[in-house]
Amino acid sequence: MKSLWNDSDAARLLDELGPVWGEALALRTYSARLLGSDAALVLHGGGNTSVKGAATDLFGERHPALFVKASGADLAGIAPDGHLGLGLAPLLRLRTLPVLGDEQMVLELRRHLLQPGSGAPSIEALVHAFLPPRFIDHTHADAVLALTNRAGGEALAREVLGDEAIVLPYVKPGFDLARASAEAFEAAPRARAMVWARHGLLTWGNDAREAYEATVEVVSRAERYLASRGATCLAVRDEVARARERMVAVAPVLRGLLAGPRDEATGRRRHVVVAPLATPEVIGFLGQRGAREVALGGPLTSDHLIRTGPWPAWAEIDDHSDSARLSGVLRAAVETHARRYREYLDRHSSAMPGGLAAFDASPRVVLVPGLGAACLGHDLRAAAIARDITAHTLGVKGWIAASGGAYEGLPERDLFHMEYRTLQHAKLAGRDPAPLSGEVAIVTGAAGAIGSGICRALLEAGCAVGATDLAGEALDSLVGELSASFGPAILGVPMDVTDPAGIAAAWRRVIEEWGGVDLVVVNAGIAHVSSLASMDLAAFRRLERVNVEGTLLVLGEAARHFAAQNSGGDVVLVSTKNVFAPGAKFGAYSATKAASHQLARIASLELAELDVRVNMVAPDAVFSEGGRKSGLWAEVGPDRMRARGLDEAGLEAYYRSRNLLKAAVTARHVANAVLFFATRQTPTTGATIPVDGGLPDATPR
Ligand code: ZN
Repeated sequence: MKSLWNDSDAARLLDELGPVWGEALALRTYSARLLGSDAALVLHGGGNTSVKGAATDLFGERHPALFVKASGADLAGIAPDGHLGLGLAPLLRLRTLPVLGDEQMVLELRRHLLQPGSGAPSIEALVHAFLPPRFIDHTHADAVLALTNRAGGEALAREVLGDEAIVLPYVKPGFDLARASAEAFEAAPRARAMVWARHGLLTWGNDAREAYEATVEVVSRAERYLASRGATCLAVRDEVARARERMVAVAPVLRGLLAGPRDEATGRRRHVVVAPLATPEVIGFLGQRGAREVALGGPLTSDHLIRTGPWPAWAEIDDHSDSARLSGVLRAAVETHARRYREYLDRHSSAMPGGLAAFDASPRVVLVPGLGAACLGHDLRAAAIARDITAHTLGVKGWIAASGGAYEGLPERDLFHMEYRTLQHAKLAGRDPAPLSGEVAIVTGAAGAIGSGICRALLEAGCAVGATDLAGEALDSLVGELSASFGPAILGVPMDVTDPAGIAAAWRRVIEEWGGVDLVVVNAGIAHVSSLASMDLAAFRRLERVNVEGTLLVLGEAARHFAAQNSGGDVVLVSTKNVFAPGAKFGAYSATKAASHQLARIASLELAELDVRVNMVAPDAVFSEGGRKSGLWAEVGPDRMRARGLDEAGLEAYYRSRNLLKAAVTARHVANAVLFFATRQTPTTGATIPVDGGLPDATPR
């Protein structure tokens, strides 16, 4: 491990933060970010840091204070107020107590916050209080865990790290660990670091740099030892999977198995997304003899538990091409895991704290030799966290195996204690999930006016969206625009709806990313203006290919996917008011859209047995969304303006004036109708919602 400390970067942050926050907190922020930037040290809110200083009260008196990381804050991007100030003297008094339970400890920490209500200090705040050094850094360094999480791990850590590092056996985090650490510190005044077996590393110093560089030194020593024993200390990279093909077959089946039960009142299920992990390191590890036992042997450090569960599930698939067999093996793996988890809960039920409900017994991670890990979550973030933790966990387990060790995780009792701990559950509690959280959509014709409005509305509802359209600037700019707000929840996938191979490839791309598809919005379509008398046959056929064959091909792909995934689904076709009230000189469009509408109705008949609903929305002219003009506009706008002698605003006013409600129809209105079906507000299939402000001639019957 190399030190990333850079004096000029530190000075720059000091200039920026020092005037308001003071030198200590400015440099504390700098080195906390250095620790957080290294995934081999901490992951997703793991680890914690502190600095001691003083605070002035209303009477001008100075009191010693501790500034310690807030629970769950991420070191990588921590702000100066990410370290919460607490009065130090009252915290030190707590050390004299014989016992202090979690809830009382949290209450005491909150009571002594300098800014009441500023947040929950880290679970390890008392460690930072009881140890005297000014700067303290705590991480869950992979290389250190690769020493301690094995048979004889504590002795090995002592041997490798020398006298300057204290090695403590595992002690449950909280008051007990704080007291044990303080006693060990006092007994070894020359130590510069402390290793907590099966948990992590603590280093300290008089200034930010000294504490940080002690971490670098200890981790480097551990890495040198591992390398000398043949374990390559490659940081596990977040590479794109090598086992993609197989994951595409496995992930939808797994999603289907893990979708929650169908709620009879709403007809909805709670879905999970799959974040695949198939780096060469992971594939290599899973293929080794004995990998199963090691992989199922518990997490590296207890704060990973609430993200990945106590152990993953394990599935060995000999034939990926046989789908019935594949699904049988995965079902057995999920059931074996659930049984093991329920037995574990039963064994420890007497220790379950009041007010906590048991987690679902489904696995959060499924390991498949030859394929990698399928990491699961109820939203993209949870799945990505499970994936990153799994990458590091398997990496460390691989090092231990390569250096001749036998992995030894925490005893089951300690796992249960950390998993069912009020403090940890508080970290997971958050807002209600978004209505389509955990669901995945494919939208065709996404780059147009209506398509882009639908993509945005789905993203706002928590859905992951594969936005498909012809490759080019329109799609790229849409994805650029939406990813600024929705990050990894939007994926641009070039796709031509008239190309069956391209459609299959687009589906694979979305499955590689999120594991499956739950909602398909069939929106791609083109228009053409011509009387029947002067119709150009080639133009008519072009509309047939996109509007009819394109719909057929996308519905076919969706149907095959929904059958494999076996957890229901929704299809919404963006139809048009012209299906019910066609317009003169609009024959090619009206006829081909009528055919696509009819195909969707057929799909509603054929797919109902899979619990797939197929519905239609029928908008009247939507010509733009934000700055995006629709293809329909390009085709008919200028023509209609000419025919009626109107300008653009005049034409919009004309369309508005012809409906009962005198409403301008927007892409957002169409998207709202899509959301109505996607969120399954009513038990409805094969039906059409007009989105047209009221056109009596076009009302579907
Ligand atoms: Zn920790």
